[in-house]
Amino acid sequence: MKRRDFIKTASASTVVAGAVLVNAPAVHAKTAIKWKMVTTWPMNFPGLGTSANKLAELINEMSAGRLQIKVYGAGEIAPALEVFDVVSRGTAEMGHGAAYYWKGKNESFQFFSCVPFGLTATEMTAWLYHGGGLELWTEAYKSFGVIPAAAGNTGVQMAGWFNREIKTVNDLKGLKMRIPGLGGEVLARAGGTPLNLPGGELFTALKTGAIDATEWVGPYNDLAFGLYKAAKYYYYPGWHEPGTTLEAIINQKALAALDKDLQSIVLNACRVVNEDMVTEYAARNNAALDTLVNKHKVDVRRLPDAVLEKLKVLSNEVVLELANKDAQSKKIYQSLDTFTKQVKKWSAISELAYLQVR
Ligand code: CA
Repeated sequence: MKRRDFIKTASASTVVAGAVLVNAPAVHAKTAIKWKMVTTWPMNFPGLGTSANKLAELINEMSAGRLQIKVYGAGEIAPALEVFDVVSRGTAEMGHGAAYYWKGKNESFQFFSCVPFGLTATEMTAWLYHGGGLELWTEAYKSFGVIPAAAGNTGVQMAGWFNREIKTVNDLKGLKMRIPGLGGEVLARAGGTPLNLPGGELFTALKTGAIDATEWVGPYNDLAFGLYKAAKYYYYPGWHEPGTTLEAIINQKALAALDKDLQSIVLNACRVVNEDMVTEYAARNNAALDTLVNKHKVDVRRLPDAVLEKLKVLSNEVVLELANKDAQSKKIYQSLDTFTKQVKKWSAISELAYLQVR
């Protein structure tokens, strides 16, 4: 009897143990990990907000639902400019925004978005993924418990909408313009007054004359805000934002807690969106520019060479001052500057030379 009981018990245990083992992966697969993604954009804002949505959808799809991400627009969980803190604390596991929004943490973060007269979208991605930029970016965010990834690029922006004709550098004097970041500091040195307003306030500010000019992004986003109804001139090129990188930020502990394949899915989905956004902007800007010019009769103008030359001199001053702020800024600047000098030679005889003869 005793032996039979033992066998029965043993068999039962084996069956139970076996069942647990067999069922383990199924149970695991059904238990989805749920993350929050906070963004600096209004929910579903064309190009910027919709790219954050795409990133979340891609991660859901690529992980077959094992990692599900819910996207929140600016102000839903936290104001736009607190996204970095929310991810740093782990209140949300992920965020989507731009590094220059966190310059209050460290001014060197601005190098990871864009530099006036700096790298184009392709060159910027090249520096980040193949020129040491991402390692420096990761190091810069490390003490905040945040991992960065490039997750979007606008390409070359427009110089902006002006109610004043810009013929010489003197026309920038006293110009009240919405232009954030390093570009704003450059305008200040040219005698203008830079302001930073959220996108949603631009139309009214321009229309009422509270500002004389504003930059936003490019035709696709500017058409969406109706800025052509509030300004006479639409100037190019966007010297201040030649290839702005948008970022995904991920809470370091949350990422480390994922299985290796999920970690790879998160980081590679960012790379997909980084590529997707720049091509989406190229396609939509082209169509929107056509609408602005042919339907709305917008006066599109190139900034005079002398104005661009002066802005370039001032930009170099601003960037060099930033580079000399502290050791971290210097290290990032040196990497970026070395890469820029090298890549410019190749770009000159490839993209530039080709575009000039096309
Ligand atoms: Ca802009």
